[in-house]
Amino acid sequence: MRIPLIAGNWKMHNTAARTRELLGALLHELGDYSGPAEVAVCPPFTSLAAAAECLQNTSLVLGAQNMHYEEKGAYTGEISPLMLAELGCRYVILGHSERRQYFGEDDALVSRKVQAALRYGLVPILCVGELLEQRQARVTEAVIRIQLAGGLAGLTPQQVAGLVIAYEPVWAIGTGRTASPADAQQVNAYIRQVVAEFFGDAAAQAVRILYGGSVNAGNAAELLGQADVDGALVGGASLDAAGFAAIVRAAR
Ligand code: PEP
Repeated sequence: MRIPLIAGNWKMHNTAARTRELLGALLHELGDYSGPAEVAVCPPFTSLAAAAECLQNTSLVLGAQNMHYEEKGAYTGEISPLMLAELGCRYVILGHSERRQYFGEDDALVSRKVQAALRYGLVPILCVGELLEQRQARVTEAVIRIQLAGGLAGLTPQQVAGLVIAYEPVWAIGTGRTASPADAQQVNAYIRQVVAEFFGDAAAQAVRILYGGSVNAGNAAELLGQADVDGALVGGASLDAAGFAAIVRAAR
């Protein structure tokens, strides 16, 4: 039984002060929500401490949006898995398409990060997804397969069972253009099939596979109703408390 996960990726939004306001509003909107979904928010690094304080004694959990693969060292400007774990992060988004596109992250680097996250007890949310031209060229599955082979390299079936993969078609991120529920289901099912091939059926049945890309309160229920969509990674719509709470409530 896979517990649905609704995770908000705040990207580079919300100062610590705004974080307190937004989480106050979100907790108010969610009221006594008790599932079935697990709810995570992933603020920028500078707002993690404020968020951790707000989320104390609540059922919401904290995630980060990126990290370095080393515990410490001469890596100016970087944040380590140990630092995130100490702040109380449970999740860390890795390999987001914006990291791949603007910061040159490749599958080899993402793989080092995935392994480091697991060493520090963090659950990676490994993002994969194709560009528009790749979808148009009908190579979506080949692209996803390469990203999975790279990002999951060296992991055990037990480790894979515990992680989260997010299918995020790059053309759907921040564009208002969502994959159809049928397309999201098709690619998520393909991801599960590849995981089964690489790591066996038990890992494939256990791993949670989210959909991300312009999810909002209006389209969430249908996307989340697909058999292989185990939750959502939500960008823009997670910045609005009422909208994000509505997405959480759409998870069944
Ligand atoms: C994301 O950044 O992971 C994302 C899915 O963004 P949006 O919901 O804004 O498309």
